[in-house]
Amino acid sequence: MTTQESARPCQVCGNPLLPTYRRGAQPSRRKYCDSCRVEYFRARMQGPANPMNNAACRAKVARTLRERGVQPIMRWNPGLGPTPHEARLAAALGDEWATGVAIPTGLRPPYPRCYRLDVTCVGALMCVEVDGSSHQATRAKARDARKEAVLADMGWLTLRVTNISIDKDLEGIVRWVRRIAATRRQVRGQHEGNLSPCPNTRPRSRRG
Ligand SMILES: [Zn+2]
Repeated sequence: MTTQESARPCQVCGNPLLPTYRRGAQPSRRKYCDSCRVEYFRARMQGPANPMNNAACRAKVARTLRERGVQPIMRWNPGLGPTPHEARLAAALGDEWATGVAIPTGLRPPYPRCYRLDVTCVGALMCVEVDGSSHQATRAKARDARKEAVLADMGWLTLRVTNISIDKDLEGIVRWVRRIAATRRQVRGQHEGNLSPCPNTRPRSRRG
């Protein structure tokens, strides 16, 4: 820290800039105090310094992303009803399998009070989660792992398939799921108490 530095004022509001006490710190090159810096960069991002304010540049970015086939990751909103892949899998598995079943966890916030399962067989106490690309994100993986752990505590088995695998080999997935379901019928008796309808669930209409 130098006396010179502690004397420097913010270039906008004129308040003295607080010196940095970190050991071995380089003399600061800051021009703005913290609050003025936020304002400065916010204003800068609205102006020509930000290329995304230039229509020609935006068009070029959009064209490049389109050529590369980049698409935004979409999270399916449960209010939309089952995804096309969930609906196909449930239909292929048969009458015992339902989409959008909600299971109360018995937990309180910040933990979810209930979990909505993609494709569920209550009789076998198991569900198949049908994942799109959004489930590859690190945070989504952590969320999925916690969901599986909570469900496992309640006696539920979670299987995980991807949209792509359903497109590729729906029959193979159906055989696999049925084989596991057949071994799980006896599990159900121990967990009858967990199968009450979720109090937080109201029927959801499908938005068009
Ligand atoms: Zn300032």
